Amino acid sequence: MRIDVLTIFPDWFDGPLTTSLLAKAHAAGLLDLRVHDLRAFTTDRHRTVDATPYGGGAGMVMRADVWVNAAEAVWNDLPPATTAGAHAPPADAPFVAGGERPRTLLLTPRGRPLTQAYARELAAEPRLVLCCGRYEGIDERAHDLVATDEVSIGDYVLFGGEVAAAVVIETVTRLVPGVLGNHASPEDESFSSGLLEYPHYTRPATLRGHGVPEVLTSGDHGAVARWRTERAEELTRRRRPDLLAAPDDHGPRGNG
Ligand code: SAH
Repeated sequence: MRIDVLTIFPDWFDGPLTTSLLAKAHAAGLLDLRVHDLRAFTTDRHRTVDATPYGGGAGMVMRADVWVNAAEAVWNDLPPATTAGAHAPPADAPFVAGGERPRTLLLTPRGRPLTQAYARELAAEPRLVLCCGRYEGIDERAHDLVATDEVSIGDYVLFGGEVAAAVVIETVTRLVPGVLGNHASPEDESFSSGLLEYPHYTRPATLRGHGVPEVLTSGDHGAVARWRTERAEELTRRRRPDLLAAPDDHGPRGNG
């Protein structure tokens, strides 16, 4: 799967990309992650990405023209210098070869909540483009012209979309076949079956007086499976009854 990220802090992704399974997936060619500096798509000498809001108020807003230039370049694999309105007059819809935009996710608190089901849907795409906002957010016209999806990682506000993009990347990448290896399967994990996962135990058998549920060392696979299902159901009932009550997803953009 190919994922392009647009951000004013490209270095931020060095950490996630050089650590752990994400790095392995990248090295194995299962994940083609390309991080782009949004400022490369500005057209002024100062490489400005933001401006004061029309109508006044606190904070700065990211400029839609910069986002449209950047998205056009990334969608079409063009170097920054060749875009900036080179393909279409500014009033036109952004240019994309073949006419179909790759799934382009704008990270925003007002977006469709990220869930395991949503992540599965995204993992089936050949390509994703992730747009990381900063400041007060992005000019509404970039939401209209660039995004196919608006995505939120939860009901709280971050400084910027980078953390949210990293959450999307990890959640989606581990669903890409081959990334987790053969021994682990995402199918019986939390949320996949609408339940939280059962508790895990490993060595030592006793720790500070705390033992391990007997059934797990009984060798009775049927009993173990039943115990795990019961614990998963009980945990879900106690901690997240909402998961039992409702399907875990919302509309296509989460804002309609
Ligand atoms: N003024 C905005 C918040 C801006 S936070 C509001 O009130 O909704 C700056 C940027 O951080 C946003 O543009 C977005 O890209 C990112 N961000 C913040 N919280 C997020 C969340 N919960 N999910 C996804 N992205 C988020």
